[in-house]
Amino acid sequence: MGTVYIPRGRPSEGETGLRRYLLASDFDQTLSFNDSGLVLSDMLGISGFVERCAGLSRTHLVQQGAELAYLLQHDPEYRRVRREDLRQVGKQIRLKRNIHLLSSLLGGLDGYHFDFYVISAAPEEVIISALEGVVPPEHIYGTRFRYDPDSGEIQSIERVPAGYGKVAVLEELRANLCVSADRLVYVGDGSSDVHVMLHVNRMDGLTIAVSENKFLTPIARRTVLSDDALSVLVPILEDIAGMSAGRIRALFSSHGFVLQEWDKIRTDALTIRDSGPSSAVA
Ligand SMILES: [Mg+2]
Repeated sequence: MGTVYIPRGRPSEGETGLRRYLLASDFDQTLSFNDSGLVLSDMLGISGFVERCAGLSRTHLVQQGAELAYLLQHDPEYRRVRREDLRQVGKQIRLKRNIHLLSSLLGGLDGYHFDFYVISAAPEEVIISALEGVVPPEHIYGTRFRYDPDSGEIQSIERVPAGYGKVAVLEELRANLCVSADRLVYVGDGSSDVHVMLHVNRMDGLTIAVSENKFLTPIARRTVLSDDALSVLVPILEDIAGMSAGRIRALFSSHGFVLQEWDKIRTDALTIRDSGPSSAVA
């Protein structure tokens, strides 16, 4: 992966008096509503994206979440995709509300500093284009391709931040930003986020699921369901800043927001079947 540039002479935590955290988020269906691969396939009129992904997923040939990267390099129908197509897809992605305010609201927290990064298996061009003016490109780590300089065709894959690949990126960022192991926050929605959430939990960081994925929700320390990106601030403010519900409501209100519905639900999902004739009570 590319080297993260950190200016020399960055003040230490002791010098600034700020507690420094690294907040990393997935992209597809965490900051957005749709999957980049589906939008790309629709745009190009390629059918069967979901079935192709399911087939790849069954074989476990690639990490969960890396299916699109594999198809772009190996599937004949996707070989016509060029860098510009990926940029166009980014403009068609429907984003969750208020992503642009995440950093500024966290920036207003006294005594804390959060560096916000996106780590996703979606093609980097898609994410950079979708988050243009919202998240700087140097804070975005997506799948990076090498292109043939003459044809513009995808030649090879440089990096795929899916599954364990997300752990590798997060650890490189953490080392470069000099963030201690327990000052990590990771937000994600799917199977591709399992490895990195287990890793962050093991280091005593905070993991937040934004879906009811059956593999992820039992691992994540917190689950938040909302169509507004600012919702992930609630567990951060509670668990890291130790704020009460009243103070959180006041903070949102000071930025012109109302927490209209805030239901704390614990759900036990069960499937119960007959165990067959052998278990019949005598
Ligand atoms: Mg996702």
